[in-house]
Amino acid sequence: MPDPKENPPPIRLGSKVADLPGIGKQRARLFARLDIHTVSDLLRHQPMRYEQQASEGCIDQLQFDSIGTARGMVQSARWVAPPGFGKKGRFEVTLADDTGTLNLVWFNAGYLRDKLHPGITIRVQGKVKSFNNYPQIINPKWESLDDPDATPANDERLRPVYPATEDLSSLVIEKTIAEALPQVLPGLADPLPAELLEHHAMPGLAKAFEMTHRPDSRDDAGIARRRLAFNELLLLQLGIAMKRAFVHEKLAAPKLRFTKAIDKHIRARFPFTLTDAQDKVIKEIAQDLTLPIPMNRLLQGDVGAGKTVIALYALLLAVADRHQGVLLAPTELLAEQHFASISQMLEGANVSTALLTSAHPPKAGGERKQLLDDIAEGKVDLVIGTHALLSDHVKFHSLAVAVIDEQHRFGVMQRAAFRDSNRHAEPGADGKRHVPHHLVMTATPIPRTLSLTLFGDLDISTLHGLPPGRTPITSRVVMPMQSEEVYRYLRTRLERGEQAYVVVPAIDAAGKESAKQLTNVRDHAKLLQDKYCQGFKVATVHGRLKRESREKIMTRFRNGDIHVLIATTVIEVGVDVPNATVMIIEHAERFGLAQLHQLRGRVGRGDHGRRSLCVFISDPTTDDGIDRLNAIAATTDGFQIAERDLEIRGMGDFFGTRQSGLPPLRVATIPGDMELLQLAKRDAQTLIDADPFLTTQAHKPLRRVLMQQYGEAMGLIDVG
Ligand code: ADP
Ligand code: MG
Repeated sequence: MPDPKENPPPIRLGSKVADLPGIGKQRARLFARLDIHTVSDLLRHQPMRYEQQASEGCIDQLQFDSIGTARGMVQSARWVAPPGFGKKGRFEVTLADDTGTLNLVWFNAGYLRDKLHPGITIRVQGKVKSFNNYPQIINPKWESLDDPDATPANDERLRPVYPATEDLSSLVIEKTIAEALPQVLPGLADPLPAELLEHHAMPGLAKAFEMTHRPDSRDDAGIARRRLAFNELLLLQLGIAMKRAFVHEKLAAPKLRFTKAIDKHIRARFPFTLTDAQDKVIKEIAQDLTLPIPMNRLLQGDVGAGKTVIALYALLLAVADRHQGVLLAPTELLAEQHFASISQMLEGANVSTALLTSAHPPKAGGERKQLLDDIAEGKVDLVIGTHALLSDHVKFHSLAVAVIDEQHRFGVMQRAAFRDSNRHAEPGADGKRHVPHHLVMTATPIPRTLSLTLFGDLDISTLHGLPPGRTPITSRVVMPMQSEEVYRYLRTRLERGEQAYVVVPAIDAAGKESAKQLTNVRDHAKLLQDKYCQGFKVATVHGRLKRESREKIMTRFRNGDIHVLIATTVIEVGVDVPNATVMIIEHAERFGLAQLHQLRGRVGRGDHGRRSLCVFISDPTTDDGIDRLNAIAATTDGFQIAERDLEIRGMGDFFGTRQSGLPPLRVATIPGDMELLQLAKRDAQTLIDADPFLTTQAHKPLRRVLMQQYGEAMGLIDVG
């Protein structure tokens, strides 16, 4: 057997960073902390900026704030260490040439005492700063020059500065990349068709990598970045387009009957007239359901917009055509809530409805088995439940419509949850695999940029506005010093029989020093119970409680046995307690805007005419923080808030994105690269229209890269 060490495998984009020569396990771990695992990740790690590095020159020519190189003779050298600091200290050198002096400082580098003596000549390089108007370099690179007259180093160029960590400096990243490039680039094939690159006047992939890490000019760096960003966006859009092509060509769903009589019948079940906005969305959905192509639609509508009846409408269309429907909720509590309100609306109708969660019906006593049998035989028309429906692999007789509520709670990838449940089923006579239509619902509005990327394979319906009879919420931003007043006012609302949520950022005072400053669930509950809410029942709920205890408390709150609920953000999801009219959020500056908006949506849900109030208590230290909170207090439009939130936090943090399983965009930024995204979307569609599964010879490399990166996450593995 050949010794693998002697003949290491060639380094490719897919190689692990640890496979690079000179990168040990420990270094690889430091890279992993930057989410860099493969050589491809490494080469796509974009410089955040470039610094001009000047050629070697005289000391008086050094430019402040750029990287300079100079040589000179050490005039003085001294070690400055405060007593008792062990090895900590700094080594200071004054360097001089004929034109001036340069101050050098190395921190914690006592070993230099033996190396840098007055009289020797050295060459140094580093970022030049102004120190009392004299040039200074902190921690410069240095080498001693045996021949003081050696020709000056000419290495004028742009130096990349990379996002780095404390343990992994930009310099080390630069070196690692510089060493990887010559190993990877020669064998690198460009997956993009040459005509496409030519058309957009973009450089090839190898060239682009070279240009982004060692650009000749800032313009070149920009051109390279654009190509690399396009690469990412095109692959993403190809994945989306291919998935759509797959659904159209390989899958089929029941073509549901839809008539005026059925429409009338369904509407008669609702205790209110649907709003125009609801009508519009229902039309879009009904249209999809009457086609044999599986619907894959996202319904976004603000909290309280009235999405549930739309879901019910779609489910009843399935039932009216003798199929089954399923509604999946993210928590038991929500499933129960849906079951209760839907059962009420369907009272007296000939629709058999069942609740299925991990707790209900209980496993003992055969009740659960009976229910599962009934579902499989088609005796149950409508199933409302939780995750248990998926994990138990519930078999349906003829499932036509699946609705997934509060999608963002599940993470992005479960959106077509019931599509894969019969993934291995034999195709029907038409050669297609039969799957249900999917409708996913979310109260977190999706900014347009994300709807084109993460949610690109979905058709999107938007439910604007709120149904009539809802009193708007008043929002206020107050400083911590006013909280006494806020909690006194809270008491007056409690005395009127209303209920309140108080959201705080921490569970207890344990943990990091910084966390100790935060209001926490435990202490705050005690404070409120003892001081402001005597005579009322204060309870707590947070993520460390078991789900059952959490839901028990929520149920007691809903029943009015608990008056004030102190909670972490676990109450974010669509819990409906109409009598809760006050929401107080402590340290509001610590939450994302979309999250604050979600939290606020927990109140203002009753039609009792009482005005709901949301108070953001915050001590924002920056003006920007105050602006953000005032912005959210001033609007109730979730879409505006979501766009703003995306701008502030970037795509990585936006809900579910990290857990989506999709590889992160490393070069492209959203929403910054919107124009490029549109370009990629158009090109991807053209490619897929001509060659749906990219199977022609010319597209094979593209297909290979696509499958590598998105195959699993996007479920493209089944594709042709
Ligand atoms: P969400 O979109 O947050 O799921 P829901 O479906 O829970 O909102 O609806 C919020 C409230 O509005 C519910 O109490 C519901 O009964 C009520 N509602 C929905 N549609 C209408 C309507 N057209 N007219 C009056 N009330 C409505
Ligand atoms: Mg809802």
